[in-house]
Amino acid sequence: MTTAGQLATAVSKFEHRLGGRVATPRQAGWDEARRPWNLAVDQHPAVVVRAESADDVLAVIDIAREQGLRVAPQGTGHSAGPRASLEHSVLLDMSRLNQVEIDPGRRRARLQAGAQWQHVVGPAADHGLAGLSGSAGDVCVTGYALGGGVGWMVRRYGVAANSIRAAEVVAADGRSVHADADTEPDLFWALRGGGGSFGVVTALELELFPVRELYAGVLFWPQERATEVLTAWHEWTASVPEEVSSLGRLLNLPPIEEIPEALRGRSFVVVEAALIGDEASGSEQLAPLRELRPEMDTFGMVPPPGLTALHMDPPAPVPGEGNGMLLDDFPEQAIEAVVVAAGPGTDSPLVSLEVRHLGGAAGRAEPSHGALAAIDAGYLLYTVGMAATAEMKRTVGRRVDEVQAALAPWDAGRLVGFTERPTDPALMFSDDVYRRAREVKAKYDPGNLIQANHEIPPAE
Ligand SMILES: Cc1cc2nc3c(=O)[nH]c(=O)nc-3n(C[C@H](O)[C@H](O)[C@H](O)COP(=O)(O)OP(=O)(O)OC[C@H]3O[C@@H](n4cnc5c(N)ncnc54)[C@H](O)[C@@H]3O)c2cc1C
Repeated sequence: MTTAGQLATAVSKFEHRLGGRVATPRQAGWDEARRPWNLAVDQHPAVVVRAESADDVLAVIDIAREQGLRVAPQGTGHSAGPRASLEHSVLLDMSRLNQVEIDPGRRRARLQAGAQWQHVVGPAADHGLAGLSGSAGDVCVTGYALGGGVGWMVRRYGVAANSIRAAEVVAADGRSVHADADTEPDLFWALRGGGGSFGVVTALELELFPVRELYAGVLFWPQERATEVLTAWHEWTASVPEEVSSLGRLLNLPPIEEIPEALRGRSFVVVEAALIGDEASGSEQLAPLRELRPEMDTFGMVPPPGLTALHMDPPAPVPGEGNGMLLDDFPEQAIEAVVVAAGPGTDSPLVSLEVRHLGGAAGRAEPSHGALAAIDAGYLLYTVGMAATAEMKRTVGRRVDEVQAALAPWDAGRLVGFTERPTDPALMFSDDVYRRAREVKAKYDPGNLIQANHEIPPAE
């Protein structure tokens, strides 16, 4: 814990070393500097530094350590919700570090740690390559990949964490560390799925995959058909090859202008999917779902950058309240539980309740993999609603909890990246992985300087 005197010294040292990259509560622009992507989270750090280089990160770590502050790296603040109080922390805004280089020969993207998927997918596609991006273009690649990274090709190529080939990290003792399979292998292991507890990542090298186009889109039915459609989707997931990643979803679209007129203010049950292959094979796979005669069908061939539009995520920061959990299965009784908790006629305040299909490569551990070697669950639930006021946040939060409680019989644990409440990190890992992650934390950050959203405490 830092005293007022230490904080004043820290701020003057930050300002001396970092000038205009420092924001403090007394300055104009403070509210903007401390604001995360999730506008429902009111962050109050001691000070904010907007890093523009790895040297800036080093300076922040050194001064913070000296003055008793903690360091909380943030890419965008998509997952600002679970982080503990920032009262004694420097919020280290990484968003200005967003340069990306593609090495087509080695099928690699080298990116600074604040880069978002929208900075990567276009340049990669120019070379016929794709990274393992998720549903939103403005999610930061680093936070996403450190916490798992469940994207549109997860069943074919696994989670994004295991596509990290190297990381540049500033450790808590101020050392710049290169981590890959041969150098600092413990740190490299922990970063890949263990979250942001182990150091500040300043750059990543990611594997890219030779995917030029996918057959992808959304099928919409009126939400009254939720049970029938989700049951058919669940049956379908049992038969599809690993080239198909999909989700079933209850969608309650708000009556706002940004939403196309045909969808605005309506409630649907939808299936979204991305199929690696051509239109003929994609159509063949989709046939059993099309037999249910969807009201709208947007499927077509899309290049990988098009995948970031598929899920209709908000294009700009919004206030949201949500949470996720892993499910071992999503059988008839679970579907019924979801429909009773948040389906048609329940006046659900949730914008979205989605269940993503896992398995395939996501479920296969390889010796080369990191802390999230495989996801031992068949499906992933994520529910979210708008939380523009404290009252809305409470109402949505209650419904999120009710849905999770209704699905408790199928609970298969938590994933770092989809857990948006303060949660015991032990629930996110097996006992062995958690023990090893705590040992890595003790090796690289024994004083617990780095403050992740889901903190792994150092081993004692
Ligand atoms: C609209 C939306 C869509 C999403 N879609 C998907 C999806 O399709 N698939 C999926 O898997 N997840 C998805 N997520 C979850 C998302 O992956 C997590 O919220 C992730 O943590 C976001 O990373 P961020 O850096 O943007 O967020 P932040 O809140 O900035 O970061 C989250 C945490 O990552 C760590 N971190 C970030 N940068 C660094 C760094 N440079 N060094 C060390 N640690 C760091 C920190 O611990 C930080 O608390 C989605 C979330 C939202 C809100």
